[in-house]
Amino acid sequence: MTGHPSIDLVNTEVMRRGNRHNLLATKDDLRRWIETSIETGGVHPESLPEGCDTGEALRDLLVLRELLRRGFERFADGREPEAGWKDELEAQVARAPFAYRVSGAILVPVPQGPPADALVSLVAVDALRLLAEGKLKTLRRCANPDCVLLFMDASGRRKWCSMKVCGNRTKVARHYARKEKAGRA
Ligand SMILES: [Zn+2]
Repeated sequence: MTGHPSIDLVNTEVMRRGNRHNLLATKDDLRRWIETSIETGGVHPESLPEGCDTGEALRDLLVLRELLRRGFERFADGREPEAGWKDELEAQVARAPFAYRVSGAILVPVPQGPPADALVSLVAVDALRLLAEGKLKTLRRCANPDCVLLFMDASGRRKWCSMKVCGNRTKVARHYARKEKAGRA
């Protein structure tokens, strides 16, 4: 989890044994995803209304995930998003516009609307903020061709979604390829 719910949402699709696998398939998955988003600072608990872990919220969130992926992958490929992509995101935020609440030293945005709309608005506004700040241009695809995860990298040097997972796997594969070659020689 990156602390950015829009990127974390797109990354709930992963590759497993060559197939795309959905980590947000059930309401329990959604509940866990929301909890982790709160723990990693992506979402403030007071931003979320009661009851945003419904089947309706899950369905709407998966539609948003498709929209986000369309734009994010273009940024990761060094392109601009399609015309209208930003407008579509803005429309998702408009489903539940924000009021604000002070919680301790934090100004907390509170989307106003039914729970499913509120959840979608919170994630969509995160993407709009990254867009406005120019940070979507730092999106990269993992260098492992069997991995669909995206990450932000301002340095331009990072290659893998995670050194532990894909970086290591690639290193190990190279190690064995070298060994095999040496064995044959
Ligand atoms: Zn990866």
